[in-house]
Amino acid sequence: MANLFNLIYGILSFILGLNKNKYINLSEYKYPSPKDKEYTYIPIIETTDLHGYGFQREIESKSNFSYGGASLLSSYIEAIRNEWGDNFLYLDAGDKYKGGVESTISNGTIMTEIFNHENLDASAIGNHEFDNGVSFFEKQMESSKTFWITTNIRNANNNSTDAFNVKKYLQKKIIIKKGIKIGILGYTPLFTYYAENDVLKKLNFLKMKDTILDESKRLREQDKVNSVILIIHYGIECYSDSQDIGIYNISHSQNNQNCNINNNELYDFLMNSPIGTIDAVFGGHVHYPGHHFFNGIPVIHSKDRGVHFHIAYLPFKDNKLVREKIQVEGPIPLCDKISNSTKKCSYDNKDEEMYPFTFHNSIIRYNEKIERNVLNKYNKEMLKYKKFICNNNDAILERVKEESVIGNLETDAIRIKTKADFSIINNGAFRTIWYPGKIYLKDIYDMNPFQSNIVTFEMNGEEIYKAMNILQNGEKKYYAISGMKIYFKKVNGIFNIEKITLNNDQEIDRKKNYIIATTNFILGGGDDFKDVLKWYTPRNKKSFDLLISIIEEYLINVKDIKKANYYDSDPSKRRLIFK
Ligand SMILES: [Zn+2]
Repeated sequence: MANLFNLIYGILSFILGLNKNKYINLSEYKYPSPKDKEYTYIPIIETTDLHGYGFQREIESKSNFSYGGASLLSSYIEAIRNEWGDNFLYLDAGDKYKGGVESTISNGTIMTEIFNHENLDASAIGNHEFDNGVSFFEKQMESSKTFWITTNIRNANNNSTDAFNVKKYLQKKIIIKKGIKIGILGYTPLFTYYAENDVLKKLNFLKMKDTILDESKRLREQDKVNSVILIIHYGIECYSDSQDIGIYNISHSQNNQNCNINNNELYDFLMNSPIGTIDAVFGGHVHYPGHHFFNGIPVIHSKDRGVHFHIAYLPFKDNKLVREKIQVEGPIPLCDKISNSTKKCSYDNKDEEMYPFTFHNSIIRYNEKIERNVLNKYNKEMLKYKKFICNNNDAILERVKEESVIGNLETDAIRIKTKADFSIINNGAFRTIWYPGKIYLKDIYDMNPFQSNIVTFEMNGEEIYKAMNILQNGEKKYYAISGMKIYFKKVNGIFNIEKITLNNDQEIDRKKNYIIATTNFILGGGDDFKDVLKWYTPRNKKSFDLLISIIEEYLINVKDIKKANYYDSDPSKRRLIFK
């Protein structure tokens, strides 16, 4: 009876418009419109670093909201289609497969199906596309409806553009919308860890200025395009003190202050190439929101896991791009509800009421079509991973720049399991956020998607000092540790290791042999350990279980995660101590 009443009430209020006030309007800003008389706009939707997140993730809070996932993304793309017809582009800047449990259990297929369903126009190749070797990626390429764009990858044997065994990639692509010809180039930088698999044997990565400059010229002079844009798995990290960087906005200013531009190949390229080489950059990899302009060129990218995305609007007048009128909308939150005050969904607002919302006059809600066509068939398998592992967690656990709760917890778990003296893990091993509340099996897969094995090896105290000096001062510092404490002292602005002790503050014995546990990734020369392997050959190597299995067993045993057990509120009692 109550259901019937609700139904009638629902229909009546829909007809009478009573429901309208239940929706917040996300897009209060004046955004470009297809009806604009002055300019012909081409909107370009960009996602990046979805990292295997095909499904949304639920967060326990006052309003129990969800973020990410293809269903909400599809709803947004439909909203743009309602508004612009087919006169927009959808690009992705790569790192599609490695991360979410759904991608792992479907061998990446779910992500390819999602992009096929959404009619992706072009894609850059991300570094994690190669995690399972070149042939894994070739398989995904083969079943992709769209072409991957790579202007700089060559065959390592003969340097030809014939780089892959599957012909689903192009050096450049030209798309025409409303009579405007847009040329798309694609770039993937060389990443050092490719050395672990067959990537460097098969592929050669050319530099940006050798390839992009030439191809852009060719696109403009020979192909007569009206605009050249770049999709690239790379970006420029910019920070903001006022937090406004993560809030929905529309920007067209040169706000490039507070960005990390040191040794940034993209930044150097944009600042030093002639105006009109590249008109807009659709980037990724850095996992930072980017909507900043460099030399008048917008560089757009988003946080990982589909937390949000951006739309760039390229304005044309008489088929000529009007650079100073380019606008960027975003970060646009991929959520099912948002806070009225911040216009985003975030755990920061957990005590706040959140509401469903409209975007460009369309209601954003789960999209039945993509659920029916792609997602639903994975539901049953996903249910297995909803298995409850851990009762309660009282803190936000995520990767941070220094010592982290998750790093301490995971290094403890592997040290206890392997009975090693010490353990060490790189920060890059942690790939999601565990919010306070329950932990499920899927959360462990999301946190540690790399299928790493745990291994132990032997080092004497002297070697540990030498190795820690390399690692904890290396490019990927600081590494999570267990069983030891490291005291750092600031000398000439740099933190040097002063002393390494056991947990009881007794200095480690430089002559004694210790057992250390880590992942096969690290011991194989991953991250800064490559520099340790220049002088050290692993001794007494033993293999253990997968990292995820060890973490699962550990969490079932501890039942509740209490932050205080892993991370001391007093900085002088932590594991990495800075003086
Ligand atoms: Zn990424």
